[in-house]
Amino acid sequence: MIRVFLISLIVFIFSNVAKTQTNEEISADIIRTALEDRRGYKWLEQLCDIGPRLSGYPDSYKAIEWAQSVMHQANFDSVWLQPVMVPFWERGSVESAKIISKGKFKNQELSVAALGGSIGTNEDGISGVVVKIDSFVHINNQDLDVENKIVFYNEPYDQGLVNTFAAYGKAVKQRTRGAIEAAKRGALAVIVRSVTSLNDNVPHTGIMSYNDTIPKIPAVAIGIRDAELLSLAMETQGVLKVEMKLSCVTHEPKLSYNVVGEIFGEKHPEEIIVVGGHFDAWDKGHGAHDDGAGCVQAIEVLDLIKRLDLKPSRTIRCVLFVDEEQRQSGAHAYAAMIDSLKQTHIAAIEADRGAFMPRGFSVSADSLVIEKMQTWLPVLRETGIEWIREGGSGVDISKIKNAKALIGFVPDMQRYFDYHHSANDTFDKVHPREMELGSAAMTILTWLLSESDL
Ligand SMILES: [Zn+2]
Repeated sequence: MIRVFLISLIVFIFSNVAKTQTNEEISADIIRTALEDRRGYKWLEQLCDIGPRLSGYPDSYKAIEWAQSVMHQANFDSVWLQPVMVPFWERGSVESAKIISKGKFKNQELSVAALGGSIGTNEDGISGVVVKIDSFVHINNQDLDVENKIVFYNEPYDQGLVNTFAAYGKAVKQRTRGAIEAAKRGALAVIVRSVTSLNDNVPHTGIMSYNDTIPKIPAVAIGIRDAELLSLAMETQGVLKVEMKLSCVTHEPKLSYNVVGEIFGEKHPEEIIVVGGHFDAWDKGHGAHDDGAGCVQAIEVLDLIKRLDLKPSRTIRCVLFVDEEQRQSGAHAYAAMIDSLKQTHIAAIEADRGAFMPRGFSVSADSLVIEKMQTWLPVLRETGIEWIREGGSGVDISKIKNAKALIGFVPDMQRYFDYHHSANDTFDKVHPREMELGSAAMTILTWLLSESDL
């Protein structure tokens, strides 16, 4: 009898010790476990080995199966797929450009990559005289003659800016809008200087758009060194002709899926906190930083909460959004689903800025909510998080309506555009400790969101 009593007493004491763990202690456990086990980093390597995850690509379905099985193995309370129709643009095997004018540069191959969504050329390719434009806005100059020519947009990425996303945003219009504006003026094709902070010769792809009332023309990105070479060749020779061959093609939309995993809340299971990233990636590299890492970090948030036996009050839901890069169809479908089911989302966190050293959280919310979150900084600081402030969140979660806080995880941004959308974005570019500190920061924030009343 006494033995039973003593055992009961010990169980009682231990269960209460567990319950009275402070947020500081929970935070320390999360950080240590993430850094020691590197589970997310190991998952990232597996994911990067699967193959290109661009929406509609065969390997994107293998990746979706893989994510489901990881979530099942991690014992999430619920794992399911949300069907979504996605675009299917395929790069194909032919992708080349070369200078064909007589002279010193004849037959000089140029390092190019078709922009996402571009039409291809026929087998003979397309050729024309190149017209260079040093700033995107100059395409509107009235005296510019680009009819039946190839427009070469050569606006540089502004290396003088500290904020690399601002530099990207400034230069990326020539990629997204360049073909439309050039086609309005009768151009044959466009070549776009890669929007990157690195001065190598690797082309950086990304989405471009067409307008249905304007002819569609092929569009490629060119590596920075070859952009310089092309400029030099034009200065040296004056009139210069380039030939381009592309076999990229847009197929019919395909059925794909958002991958969703959940841990049910103990007190308020109907109140949801989403943590996510986008599961598609451009095909040239592994999509390691963009956004394989963000996805495995989101899975790791639930996994750490589960393994440390934290019992969240609210439901924690990991969403791997399909097709962020082209149409955001996964994000639209998710937002429509939670609208129709009238699901309550307290907050959402998106990781889509690379897996570098944590710096802050950018929050779209009322100022009182942000002020409350700022009181959590002491608990987050050990991960590297220095600030929580008002700002944009993430492309996918921004479609969610009525959440109290939409939050973007912001790691250090200096190297992101070295890799972004290019063959440089491979697994070896991700540092395990930096990535795991990011997972820990997101896990701690998720826990605090779950246990507080915003
Ligand atoms: Zn991304």
